[in-house]
Amino acid sequence: MIFNDLVIDTGWALFLDRDGVLNKRIVDGYVTQWEEFIWLPGVLDALKIFSEIVGTIVVVSNQQGVGKGIMTNEAVMKIHSNLMNDVKKNGGRIDAIYYSPHQSKENSFLRKPNVGMGLKARKEFPFIHFRKSVMAGDSLSDMLFGRRLGMKTVFLSDNKSELHKGHKIIDFTFPNLLTFSKTLTTSPPHNPMTSSPHHLTTSPPHHLTT
Ligand SMILES: [Mg+2]
Repeated sequence: MIFNDLVIDTGWALFLDRDGVLNKRIVDGYVTQWEEFIWLPGVLDALKIFSEIVGTIVVVSNQQGVGKGIMTNEAVMKIHSNLMNDVKKNGGRIDAIYYSPHQSKENSFLRKPNVGMGLKARKEFPFIHFRKSVMAGDSLSDMLFGRRLGMKTVFLSDNKSELHKGHKIIDFTFPNLLTFSKTLTTSPPHNPMTSSPHHLTTSPPHHLTT
């Protein structure tokens, strides 16, 4: 597998989906206000770990509830500023959050799986290289977004029955963000005389072979 012993260091960027990755996804609904934003277990700790390993951390989120008139842009931005505060308070970092207010029927370039939000991020953070980026999400749309930009893809799911769906666009699978982050810190020993980059190996618990 070509992703064996991938070395992840500060030259890398991490792209994260929001709902179902950072916070509890509301099935058939939207997080319309901060009170409805529930952190998933271990996510704040995971973000702290990632902050120490990768150079850039960006969230890319589809929020079509805005386009449908269910919530406002102001409400989403308020949620995101509170979210970033929580991350910061916990010693972690998110460098930017991009969201798409467009409805799926618009097929906007800015809505995943289309790549607009990724290009926007790279414009704002010129040191992002998609070949040295990972997209982590809980839907195939996230995986396709990452794949189209040439990123490595990490599928987060604790539902084993879903694991083989669309697996050709999934490079790695983990049950949650914390497990993924810990994989980067429990890497094979590295020469202590050099800097200590982190390795993403092909041995996570739910790894898929292609
Ligand atoms: Mg999601």
